[in-house]
Amino acid sequence: MLTEQDCTVVELPKVDTRLITPKAPAIARVVGNLPCTYGKSNSWVRNVAIDVSATALAGKIRIGQAFGIIPPGTDEDGKPHKVRLYSIASPDAGEDGRGNILCTPVKRTIAEFDPEIGGNRRAHRGMFMGACSNYLCNLSVGDEVLVTGPAGKRFLLPADAERHDYVFIATGTGIAPYRGMVLQLLKGPAGPTRRDIWLLAGAPYTSDLLYHELFLEIEREFDNFHYLQAVSREPHAPGELRGIYVDRLLVSHLERLGPVLERPSTLLYLCGIAGMQFSIYRRLALLGLLDGYAVPKSDICVTSPADWTSTQMRRGLRATARCMIEVY
Ligand code: NAP
Repeated sequence: MLTEQDCTVVELPKVDTRLITPKAPAIARVVGNLPCTYGKSNSWVRNVAIDVSATALAGKIRIGQAFGIIPPGTDEDGKPHKVRLYSIASPDAGEDGRGNILCTPVKRTIAEFDPEIGGNRRAHRGMFMGACSNYLCNLSVGDEVLVTGPAGKRFLLPADAERHDYVFIATGTGIAPYRGMVLQLLKGPAGPTRRDIWLLAGAPYTSDLLYHELFLEIEREFDNFHYLQAVSREPHAPGELRGIYVDRLLVSHLERLGPVLERPSTLLYLCGIAGMQFSIYRRLALLGLLDGYAVPKSDICVTSPADWTSTQMRRGLRATARCMIEVY
């Protein structure tokens, strides 16, 4: 039987990184490219599957890591495009069971230049099309693509997955690693785990929920997997005008989630937009559940969590080994 202390020690697996560097990228091939939104959505997100069998990435990627893509062409300064990292959404054995086919959700970056930011070059109105995301979303099955990686040593499942319970929290495409982690834990070679897995997903609209049908299906199959959604731009309940952010799910499901978060064995994963990390920290602190996931570095605790600003939390809180964070 593990002691409380043992559970809080989180051993991560040793992983390979930089097997392929941007100086010498390898050629991989697209084998799938399909929307992964829930029906029609103006957030165009496609699950792009890539065969890396002819590269050093084959069989080497662990779920939680990312791989790099180098789009063709040059940037606005005439320099070759730099590598972009994409989170793997496949379990360790890939989509094919041998670690040869990796998938990732790619959201088309389509935005307006904002004259207020970005210096002279951007001091005009007009559309901005992300070079790599649109390149990837436009690829067809059979097309070649330059890959690098793997990248990432910390946002991983623990070496001994059976020692822990899991609370995975995502916004938008931050759900990518959780698809692979949930598949790894419940359908991987060592699975299915009997430990608790909670997945909390945030998205602007219901139609933006990624891999939604897959998670609903897994929830029907495994009674220890719980999938909750927070939709921010649709009324949350009859009579309400606004939606909710993911941190509100901690309140609405406190009765069941509270005891899970209190267990020393539980690991908390946060992936998505940067602001989410702080709304989760604040909410956990208000609920008296932050201990074990973040510790104060400064005198932040002299003020009430309700008044904590993002800057204060960035400077004043340090994530513990039980809290994995991948936010941008
Ligand atoms: P998105 O579809 O726009 O969804 C983000 C959701 O989070 C929206 O519902 C948004 O609400 C909500 N939100 C905004 N502020 C929040 C806060 N403080 N707390 C909780 N929820 C909040 O997301 P996206 O375009 O995919 O962007 C996701 C981000 O994750 C990107 O920055 C991307 O770089 C990052 N990401 C990281 C990884 C990784 O592996 N590290 C992988 C993929 C993506 P409203 O917009 O309605 O306010």
